[in-house]
Amino acid sequence: MNVFVRYRSNTISLEPSRDCHLLTVKLPFKVKAPIIIGKGVEPGLNIRETITITIGGKQYFIIPSGSLKGVFRKLSAAIAYKMVNKLQPHIGQVIMTHDEDKVKHKIDMEYGDLIEQLYSQNKDVMDRICFSKKNMSCNRLKKEDLETYMELVLSLYCPICSLYGSKHYAGVITFKPVIIPFEEKTVDIRYHVAIDRRSRTKEDRALYMDHLLYYVGKAVNIEFIVKDLEPGSLASKLLASTLEYISVSGLLVGGGKSIGYGLMEMDKDNVVWSYRRYTSYNEYISPMTGKGLSTLLDLLRE
Ligand SMILES: [Zn+2]
Repeated sequence: MNVFVRYRSNTISLEPSRDCHLLTVKLPFKVKAPIIIGKGVEPGLNIRETITITIGGKQYFIIPSGSLKGVFRKLSAAIAYKMVNKLQPHIGQVIMTHDEDKVKHKIDMEYGDLIEQLYSQNKDVMDRICFSKKNMSCNRLKKEDLETYMELVLSLYCPICSLYGSKHYAGVITFKPVIIPFEEKTVDIRYHVAIDRRSRTKEDRALYMDHLLYYVGKAVNIEFIVKDLEPGSLASKLLASTLEYISVSGLLVGGGKSIGYGLMEMDKDNVVWSYRRYTSYNEYISPMTGKGLSTLLDLLRE
């Protein structure tokens, strides 16, 4: 679990909040273009097959939760980089060290002062983390494995890693896979010729097939749950901005994005969510529910 999301990450003095939070969200989308949800091209086979599962004798297409998380994660990272100048300098610096392609933080000795500053801001939390992850004090870890120590500190403060997870911490968001009922004529096969990007010529054995899912004009729900994300925290605001971006620009899922496949449009008015908060004494605070994206954005940006 990412301890940091329980703290208000955009304020300097971080008072622990002992409350637990649970948010569930359903985002309805309208499919605007065919979708390729492939298992990847198998060597020698040259076919990108659509992933299907069978439940009770019926066949379904599936958009795996990993694909959805990957798409959201990339968008959030791009948005976070743009937020850098508006944030406190040390948090901005943390985000600049986040390397989304490698899903880790750039580790450089020049960040020594930053790491010290971040450590001293939440000494007790950092000490607990070093013990629980590496069974040693932060001081010892720093001497024995500086890289791991720096990554532990940076990814704890990073709003992208807080939302989606890092090498050391689990993220707070879990997506449900999208299940689409199989119907006749919803799958077509499209032939492509792969072009070598460097030589701009046809690759060997370059003809490959895509299974296209024609679900155009139909509705698909993307559902996710968010655990222990405190409304108003930096990670929560980043999630709000990501959803807002998707509501304007649409969401591209699956393969062939560069040629326009996989576009889905959010039905903002029919977004539904529910949010519960529990205190440390398990005191129950009645759940809130809402309809419409704007009510969800208000909650997240509280
Ligand atoms: Zn990060």
